[in-house]
Amino acid sequence: MNWLIFFFGLIMGSFYNVIIWRIPKKESILQPGSHCPECNEKLTFVELIPILSFILQRGTCRNCRAKISLWYPIVELLTAIGFFGLSYYAVSWQDLIVKLVFFSLLMISGVIDIRTRILPNVITIPGMVIGLLFAAFGWSISFKNSLGGIIVGGGILLLISLLSRGGMGMGDVKFMALIGSFIGPVAAVVALFLASFFGALLGSIYLFITKKDRKTPIPFGPFLMLGAFTSYWYLFLL
Ligand SMILES: [Zn+2]
Repeated sequence: MNWLIFFFGLIMGSFYNVIIWRIPKKESILQPGSHCPECNEKLTFVELIPILSFILQRGTCRNCRAKISLWYPIVELLTAIGFFGLSYYAVSWQDLIVKLVFFSLLMISGVIDIRTRILPNVITIPGMVIGLLFAAFGWSISFKNSLGGIIVGGGILLLISLLSRGGMGMGDVKFMALIGSFIGPVAAVVALFLASFFGALLGSIYLFITKKDRKTPIPFGPFLMLGAFTSYWYLFLL
C-alpha cells in the first residue's frame, strides 16, 4: 500500500512541476500539454515518466539540448518521499487526504517562492479555504481551531508586515493563514518561531557561502514551509 503511494507521489510530483512552472507565468495548467520551456517541443510519453526521463535524457532536452532544471526531479522525489512517509501516520483515508494535501500545498508554495519570490494568491487563498473545509467536514482539527489558526497565524504576520513596512510581504501573510487553517493557532505560533530560527540560521549560512551582503532579500516562504512542517511533525505526528 505504501509503495503504491510512493508511485502516486511521483506522478503527483510531476503534475506539481507543471503548477510550479506555469502558475507564476499565469499559464493554464491544463493546456497545452507538457513541453520544453525553451524550444516548446512536445514531450513524448517516455519523457513524461518522472525521474527516469531526467536520468535517460541526462538532464537536457532531446530537441534543443537546453538544460532541464534540477527542480523537476527534486519535486518529484520530494513528493514521493513525503507521501510515502506521511502514509505511515495516517489513521483513516480522510486523514491521509488531509496530510497529503497539506504537504503538497506547503511544497508547491515553498518551491514557487524560492524560484520567483512570490507566494501566488491562486494557491494560498484556495489552500486556506480547503484547510477550513477539511476542519468543517471533521477530517482534521476542529473548525474553531482552524479559524483560530488563520486569525492568529495570518494576524501575527500581518502585524509584522505593517510594522516592517514591506519587509514582510502579503504573500507570506496569506501563506501563514493557510498553514494556520491546517494546524490551528498553537502549532502556527510554534511554526512561526521555528521559521524565524531556520531563517536566521540558514539565511546566514546562505549569505556566508554565496558571499552576498546582508541586504540580499531572502524569501521567507520556504522557512515558513520548514517551520510549519517541523511543528506539524512534532505536534501532530510524533
Ligand atoms: Zn527543448
